[in-house]
Amino acid sequence: MKLSQVSPWLDVENELLDEVIGAKWLTEGKYAGLFLEKFKDITETSYAVLAPNGTLGLYLALLSLNLPQGSEVIVPSFTFFGSASSIVFAGLKPVVVDVDLDDFSISIEKLEKALTKNTSAVMAVHMYGQAAKLNRITSFCRDNKLRLIEDAAQAMGVTYQDRHVGTFGDVAMISFFADKTITMGEGSVVMTQDLEVFERLKLIRNQGRPNSGTFVHPSLGMNFRITDMQAAVGYSQLFKLNDIIEQRKTTYKKYFEMLNGGEEVKFMKIDEDSTHIPFRVAITVRNKEKTIKNLEEKGFQTRSFFYPMHKQPGLMNYIDQIDGCENSLKLYETGICLPVHRDVKLENIEEICEIVRKSNEL
Ligand SMILES: *Cc1c(COP(=O)(O)O)cnc(C)c1O
Repeated sequence: MKLSQVSPWLDVENELLDEVIGAKWLTEGKYAGLFLEKFKDITETSYAVLAPNGTLGLYLALLSLNLPQGSEVIVPSFTFFGSASSIVFAGLKPVVVDVDLDDFSISIEKLEKALTKNTSAVMAVHMYGQAAKLNRITSFCRDNKLRLIEDAAQAMGVTYQDRHVGTFGDVAMISFFADKTITMGEGSVVMTQDLEVFERLKLIRNQGRPNSGTFVHPSLGMNFRITDMQAAVGYSQLFKLNDIIEQRKTTYKKYFEMLNGGEEVKFMKIDEDSTHIPFRVAITVRNKEKTIKNLEEKGFQTRSFFYPMHKQPGLMNYIDQIDGCENSLKLYETGICLPVHRDVKLENIEEICEIVRKSNEL
């Protein structure tokens, strides 16, 4: 393999890890606190808690809203499995709707059609480093008295109308998995602007009690803690966020300049209300299989797009499909992710773009 799909930007993290090990406090401690303070500064969220990963973060977020059991949560078909599976685990029913082909984000027309008297919430997903159409989604939720959950797993640093994503919904999650914009290996933050939701998040994540060290549990809860080693890695990454954003934008721009223009390769359309922090270089091409084969042969690791939720074998017993979600299927059939991390050099981009172009010529 010449170039992997993912490579986290790591350098000084081990110094903090040594400190945590030396201090012998391994669960959430000094760095969990520092991480959350800095995270809150950057995103300007009122409240934030940690969770073991993004999927459990979504689950925790859904539990914190106290939605009626069995009620419907609308979620886009084009997303990662965890968006939909967390809804099922929270005792709710995913209602899967299609996305728009140009920006990969939930179709407002389809969203409106999916509303029933049992709908309790919408899960907006910010795909590949751009915000979903939050203007339309937030007004749809307000008009219909629905709660809004933001799956901002891929959107650390992304703003919409100058506000950080994750601060629009009742509750939101940003993931710090190893392949996200910044990472702590595994981990996520659940954020909210609502004090009541925050109080419930704290209770549910800490075994149903307000403070650790007591063994009286006023309500039911679980353990959603992370380790201070993870928090220390994440804290160190937060200082590099701006550099990582700049690097990703610069790398993406080179791909864009070399590949844009033809009918055979298309880039995700960026909404002018949203910033774009490339999570991957996500393109759709005429010949997906051929392009992947040719790239992999030359040592460039690729990723396909997400397989749509309405086709997931693991979800078949939990969703009643009302719509074919053709756009999500089309994206799966034509989409390829190219690497955008710091190890990607100009000569790699030139070679990759040449292969992509050749593989898709008529
Ligand atoms: C990565 C991701 C998740 C899940 O996050 P994990 O930390 O991997 O559990 C959920 N939704 C989307 C859109 C993601 O990209």
